[in-house]
Amino acid sequence: MQYRTQEGETKLKCAQCGKEIQDEKSSFCAYCGIPFDSKPQNTGLATGAGLLAMIAAAFSVAVGAIGVVNYLSYIDYYAAYGYDASTFIGFLFFGVFAIIASAFGFAGSALSLSGKRVKISVLGTMVMFASVVFTFVDVWYYDYGFSEGILLSGISVAALSIASAILVVKSKNEVT
Ligand SMILES: [Zn+2]
Repeated sequence: MQYRTQEGETKLKCAQCGKEIQDEKSSFCAYCGIPFDSKPQNTGLATGAGLLAMIAAAFSVAVGAIGVVNYLSYIDYYAAYGYDASTFIGFLFFGVFAIIASAFGFAGSALSLSGKRVKISVLGTMVMFASVVFTFVDVWYYDYGFSEGILLSGISVAALSIASAILVVKSKNEVT
């Protein structure tokens, strides 16, 4: 674990006991004895990225639910009156995409939080972002109208995904 002193000097702290590490070349902590390479390096930024990705994934679930629920209820309603409901297939498209994307998002979030393969976790945010773009194009194409639920959830997913990806990139640039 790293932090900077007010003088701008980089100091290391033991991730286990929190004591300052004097000998940075040492392979274990002089206070508690934990080997420094035993745990994956996780930074605050990667944790932040993981949390943002998790919230984005939750909103993505909401987009998915809106799509699938809308599709099912329109199908029900139209079928009851014998109308053709095929024009509502677009709800199913973006709904399913958003749910699949949320799975990628949650997986990426878990990677970031565990500090493992943090770079790959960006894939999760990319898939979620792509899902939002698809959703907006889909809603526009089928002329469904942008409800508040779709707009708020979609924009949240997009913004949080980008913020998460930025944190991952920043965490990679952190001095290790
Ligand atoms: Zn220690």
